[in-house]
Amino acid sequence: MDNKSADSLIRDHRRQWRDCLYIYPVIARRSKGLSIGVNLNPEKTCNYSCVYCQVDRGIQRGLHDVQLPILHDELLLALRQGQAGQLWQEHAFSKTPKSMRRINDIAFSGDGEPTCLANFDQAVKIAAEVKKQLKMEDVKLVVITNATMLQSPQFLRALPTLDANNGEIWAKLDAGSEEYFNKVNRPHGQITLRQIIDNIVVTALDRPVVIQTLFASLAGSPPTRDEIQAYCDRLTEILDRGGQIKLVQVHTVARAPAEDFVQPLTKPELDLLAKTIRLAVPSVPVETFYSSAK
Ligand code: SF4
Repeated sequence: MDNKSADSLIRDHRRQWRDCLYIYPVIARRSKGLSIGVNLNPEKTCNYSCVYCQVDRGIQRGLHDVQLPILHDELLLALRQGQAGQLWQEHAFSKTPKSMRRINDIAFSGDGEPTCLANFDQAVKIAAEVKKQLKMEDVKLVVITNATMLQSPQFLRALPTLDANNGEIWAKLDAGSEEYFNKVNRPHGQITLRQIIDNIVVTALDRPVVIQTLFASLAGSPPTRDEIQAYCDRLTEILDRGGQIKLVQVHTVARAPAEDFVQPLTKPELDLLAKTIRLAVPSVPVETFYSSAK
């Protein structure tokens, strides 16, 4: 497979597989293999309106509980097909390189904030049960979250299941100052960066978390040096308060963003940011994910 087709395969993040409501398998660069995406928010509800979000919120329809029997059947189908190798016969996956023909994780992500769902913990339990049923203990359960709901009852109820089933929490942190947080993440209601940091610290006291950060150019300006310093200070604060950080993933815009004043950072810009973070927080590994648009 040439680089161009490998790249287009990895960028094909349509959240639709067959006629499934929740499940969308994707080849994910971050997973280095197949990720069984679980989109608990087909209604496209989120408590942020990030300037770089690629979800079309024009068709937002409100929040409903996850329909657990449907989730169960769809997960079972996707994992069985992945396990038996049938998925690789499908047109969308037939060009997957051999090295990536492995199921890495079940990832709660999708078109909104998964932890907003009142029965989020039940959805996690179902994923753990299906994984166990198919003897796929090595497959991770990943929760990709904006960290706003890490102290909600449904998330706290899900934590023991995640901890017992190879779970990982990937928490979004895109800013070091309240001002930049409001500018980039545009939270709904009274959510503050201070609360996000506190949420991450509390969660990371008992298990290492992955920090996912997206930096972009806004109206032609990348984040300022002061903002990056403030961001590094927040990472240091998490560590100083006893939080464990497994990895920092630094991304830039990869798909069409919500706002047209948002542009991806170039590779040199992203590399410089990653270098700054590594120098400021040397105990934490930093991984970069470039945009294919630049
Ligand atoms: S948290 Fe995620 S889904 Fe929500 S607006 Fe931001 S990028 Fe979009």
